[in-house]
Amino acid sequence: APRAFVPPPLPPSLASCARVFAVASGKGGVGKSTTCVNIAVALARLGHRVALLDADVYGPSVPTLMRLSGQPVVDADGRMLPMENHGVRCQSMGFLMKPGAAATWRGPMVSGALTKMIQDTRWGDVDVLMVDMPPGTGDAQISISQKLPLTGAVVVSTPQELALADARRGIDMYGKVNTEVVGVVENMAYYCEKDGTRSYVFGRGGARATAAERGVEFLAEVPLDATIRESSDEGAPIVVRDPDGEVAAIYTNIARRI
Ligand code: ADP
Repeated sequence: APRAFVPPPLPPSLASCARVFAVASGKGGVGKSTTCVNIAVALARLGHRVALLDADVYGPSVPTLMRLSGQPVVDADGRMLPMENHGVRCQSMGFLMKPGAAATWRGPMVSGALTKMIQDTRWGDVDVLMVDMPPGTGDAQISISQKLPLTGAVVVSTPQELALADARRGIDMYGKVNTEVVGVVENMAYYCEKDGTRSYVFGRGGARATAAERGVEFLAEVPLDATIRESSDEGAPIVVRDPDGEVAAIYTNIARRI
């Protein structure tokens, strides 16, 4: 029989961290980073000490989404201080290299970069780490599972069947590395018309059905909303920009449930 996957211990740099969540998607562009950042900020607003690791080494989004730039300060022991905004301590390849420089990296280089960001960052005392994963189900995903003891994965999908097919592959991959999928988030689920009615532009109910079919929780429908995109571009996640709004309530509810 194949050997069961054994999760690694917490690295010393994250010794206090009780929970580690990967935010994953089968496809790029479905809103995985947006979801990850908003859950992280929502957790911070709920009083947790939150770290955010941008593991999407080929397309790091965290610097833009969290409006952070420059390079981390290095302490006397050679450890990087995480950059902080909106109450979340962040680390990203975007801080460590020139834009586009990782585009041709092979697996071992990606793995090395992830190890460095996890182990050589002075995270301090944190309660929860959110990991913005690269899209897909390849080496980088397995590599993260070997470096961090994942409490669970949040799988983000849009309603289209092609995105859902990839989301299923993602859910199945986490099963192979003994990681619980704590839930599915359907992003861009509907559009609110001026009169308040919801248009299910990309189809309705697919992500909920996929979650049910795989026996995992369905966490939320997040609307397709121009203010979500604008706030991402501005580096002020919607949970920060409009903390009392409906969308912030959706992300806060996810943060409470995971
Ligand atoms: P991924 O991490 O899956 O590649 P991103 O989070 O970078 O996706 O989102 C891709 C684009 O879609 C970004 O421009 C983002 O602002 C936008 N976006 C994400 N979610 C929504 C949404 N619910 N409504 C409107 N725009 C969104």
